Amino acid sequence: MGNKQSNEKQMQESQISQNQSQLSSRDSQISSSNFTNNKIQKQVLLNQELIYPSSDDCPSKINVTLNGITFWSNYDSGNLSQVEQIEATTFNLSISEDCQGRIPPVQSNKGTRQWFNFKVVSVTDFQANFVIVNIATRFKKIWTNDSDIYVKINKIWSRYPAVYQGFQVKFSFEFKANQIVQFAYMPPWSYKKNQKFFDFYFSQLHPDIYFRRETIAYSLEGRNIELITITKNGPHEQQEYYCPEFLFPDKQQNESLIKFKKQYILISCRVHAGEVPASFILKGILESLQNYNESAKFLLENYVFLIIPMLNPDGVYRGHYRLDSLGYDQNRVYNRILKFPKFNGPLAVLETCKNYNVAFYIDLHAHSVLSNSFIYTNWHPDPSIHQAILEFPKQMKSKVAHFRIKEAMSTQINYEKNQYEIEGIYTEKEENIQKAPELKIHFTKENLVPQSMNDDCPYSINPYLTGVAKSDVYLTTQVMFSYTLEVNYRFYTKNKQVFKYEITDFITLGRDVIESLYSAHQNQDFIQIKQHLDSNILN
Ligand SMILES: [Zn+2]
Repeated sequence: MGNKQSNEKQMQESQISQNQSQLSSRDSQISSSNFTNNKIQKQVLLNQELIYPSSDDCPSKINVTLNGITFWSNYDSGNLSQVEQIEATTFNLSISEDCQGRIPPVQSNKGTRQWFNFKVVSVTDFQANFVIVNIATRFKKIWTNDSDIYVKINKIWSRYPAVYQGFQVKFSFEFKANQIVQFAYMPPWSYKKNQKFFDFYFSQLHPDIYFRRETIAYSLEGRNIELITITKNGPHEQQEYYCPEFLFPDKQQNESLIKFKKQYILISCRVHAGEVPASFILKGILESLQNYNESAKFLLENYVFLIIPMLNPDGVYRGHYRLDSLGYDQNRVYNRILKFPKFNGPLAVLETCKNYNVAFYIDLHAHSVLSNSFIYTNWHPDPSIHQAILEFPKQMKSKVAHFRIKEAMSTQINYEKNQYEIEGIYTEKEENIQKAPELKIHFTKENLVPQSMNDDCPYSINPYLTGVAKSDVYLTTQVMFSYTLEVNYRFYTKNKQVFKYEITDFITLGRDVIESLYSAHQNQDFIQIKQHLDSNILN
């Protein structure tokens, strides 16, 4: 056992150094010897078994039996770190913080204890009381007196009542002998489930649809970061293309990738490991394309969908709430990608936007604090372009009862001044659009510490909010229509009433993404501005 673990560790370390040397060659000029090295390293990666972290590295994976009751979380996406029997029927449960809270100093993600996912079986019928004792206080808004968790019995997930009291989540359960019951923050969408989903999805597609599935990059721990390509078949529109150097590590030297003459819609998901509702939104998007209705047909005829369904598979496997295996929030590194080239998911997003003619980019997330569903986008100084950017969120607003328009901030980098210039934008107040240019905050590039702050700014702007995908895709690759779509895990409010989300609401939200993209293309003002932007970029 000890040997196996140390072997695993060695393999992991050697893989990390292989990854790093493979990636560091990006910064140097491409030479034939580099190319050969890359080829060898790619082959080594290919031949390696998938490396799972040992239990030493992964405190979220346990298997404990106390008086005939077994608790375990040592599986994909599981998270439970400790069980303590307090009374005959009462157990205190602890969950593991991402990377046990040992996170890099540039990150601001302390207290990521929210995601839990574990199984329990009792040898006898047994009434148990569970108390999750260390839920993070920073997400307390999501918990109320009638909060729910999720329970899986006989293969079916359903909501299950829990009480939030004194920063603890409490629930009781009546076990039948030998019945396995799974408890989780949300019905999990694990790394394996994600792979199985696409195995099945492929077999269900309309014959007119072109589908391709490949590994665009490997995660630090050697898991696949997959890229799915979906469009309407049309051989005349295809052209052969080279394989971008940093991506598609499994491709042979003489293989090239098909590049379509159409524009692309890039959708990414699960950069934050525990944000399962994002996977259900993606499921809705994919089902919509599969159903091949009028909207889907139009979009598939005119665009190629590129989908990266799991940007942070290591975090997902480890049962993290947010971070990767090194404790980084990968949605805060997009502006530092060359300094930390191990962020292969974000790198795949940026390189895809650089190598393909991407018109829309949508990054899918879930939110533990802000209610409802909403979109963050970027602010553009030209009002007509800004209106065109808002067309997709406005269409969402018109179709989705629980959607609210909420714009966040634009991020502009002034390389000459060596500064980030971040502008806070309005939330639902039209007049704040006018104010936007005054609401400027400066950060130096090196330390990301605010240099000056305008008191009128309606945001508490946090320097760590730089490096977000939707902003850096827009800044570095000129994809204007770049969005973060968010949905609260638990609830939305409407007419001052609070409603709980069902899983089906997330799936329907994904379908509405397709309908809204289609509807935007029925608006002539939007079409005109988009055509103008497309022709400028082409020129
Ligand atoms: Zn997120």
